[in-house]
Amino acid sequence: MRVFKFGGASVKDAAGIKNVYDVLQQVGYEDVLLVVSAMGKTTNALELVIKDYFEKSPSLQASVQEVKKYHNQILMDLFEDDKHEVFQAVQHLFSDLEYFLSHNKSPNYNFVYDQVVSYGELVSTTVLSHYMSFRGIQTQWIDVRHFIKTDANYRDAEVDWELTKNNIASNVKRKMLNVTQGFLGSDENNFTTTLGREGSDYTAAIFAYCLNAESVTIWKDVPGVMNADPRYFENASLLNQISYREAIELAFYGATVIHPKTLQPLQKKEIPLYVKSFINPLLKGTVVSKGVALEPYLPCFIVKRDQLLISLSSIDFSFIMEENISEIFALFHEFKIKVNLIQNSAISFSVCVEDKFGNFKDLNAVLSKKFKVDFNEHVTLYTIRHFNDLAAEMVEKDKIVILKQVSTETMQIITSEKQ
Ligand code: ADP
Ligand code: ASP
Ligand code: MG
Repeated sequence: MRVFKFGGASVKDAAGIKNVYDVLQQVGYEDVLLVVSAMGKTTNALELVIKDYFEKSPSLQASVQEVKKYHNQILMDLFEDDKHEVFQAVQHLFSDLEYFLSHNKSPNYNFVYDQVVSYGELVSTTVLSHYMSFRGIQTQWIDVRHFIKTDANYRDAEVDWELTKNNIASNVKRKMLNVTQGFLGSDENNFTTTLGREGSDYTAAIFAYCLNAESVTIWKDVPGVMNADPRYFENASLLNQISYREAIELAFYGATVIHPKTLQPLQKKEIPLYVKSFINPLLKGTVVSKGVALEPYLPCFIVKRDQLLISLSSIDFSFIMEENISEIFALFHEFKIKVNLIQNSAISFSVCVEDKFGNFKDLNAVLSKKFKVDFNEHVTLYTIRHFNDLAAEMVEKDKIVILKQVSTETMQIITSEKQ
């Protein structure tokens, strides 16, 4: 079996969905499992719904309408006849969402978040599955929540591999075109959970692992994995082959083309991961597999914007010791702040972090009781794997370098823009 993942960008409009059909015609669709994300920026639009809901904003209705309108337009463009059963199926899902919003009693933001954002994937797979049938390809629509079981850590749920393996091994039909949702799972009470933003790549890997799939292909709007994000680097080059290890490193440092959790299950079973263009599906793209680190061997650039550089120093000039450091890390964990770089000296400790959930203010209040806290906001973290002088010069040009850290294979540079 092959597992294909189509992300938000590939199904952002009717032309995108038609293109999925064309891709399947070209590469084959027998014995395939399609993992599909929410269309375009739907997850962001649903995040706005959740914000309005919690703020009791009068624009809640309008935010829901926005999501419905967007999908309705795609349906009209795809099916023309609004008597087609897909209209009802999608309407049904949105009614469920509205029912949830008007009846929910839980004050738990993360719980509500998962119940709401999941409609993005439920709707996209419903549309895609109906469209494939409309064009003559029979599909099996799978509710992924019956398969991927997780803990109840909403918004960042951990997979229960034992349960998930059993569910998938015994229930996915081979020889069919199966269609399922990325990003979602369910907890032991069958409430919807999500695996973290951009988690659909990971869903594809979970299925591949449990099915002993022959390969995973993630279809992207770029030719494959490149040595830099082509949105920010004009001369980015395609990497033909990268090892699992290198891909894990790149994803870990923030190359968003592959979700970092994707590689580990694939590497365990040596299942190759193809990253290919949904615009040119017959081009080779990149293969992530066992073997040489990088082919061609080039410096790889990763950019993380909007980082926070925090420096903690002891108030009384005492050393920052192991016990302080473990306490500091426990706090970062508790406040869900991700640490991307660490630098330690005798009396100070610097970390470059990402405050995805806006918790730094609260954390700062706790830290300030024990340490002198200084911070620089909106800095950029550059990582260069396999760096050389030219690569470093390129990054540093016209910028203020605040911190630099070098190891054998990796250079990290924190910069702020020159005013
Ligand atoms: P999806 O539609 O599957 O969610 P994403 O938008 O998350 O796809 O990932 C594709 C994007 O990843 C590209 O448009 C590109 O801007 C970005 N990207 C970041 N780093 C790289 C890289 N090293 N190589 C290729 N693309 C990259
Ligand atoms: N729809 C989810 C997101 O936008 C998951 C994904 O696209 O991978 O984060
Ligand atoms: Mg994405």
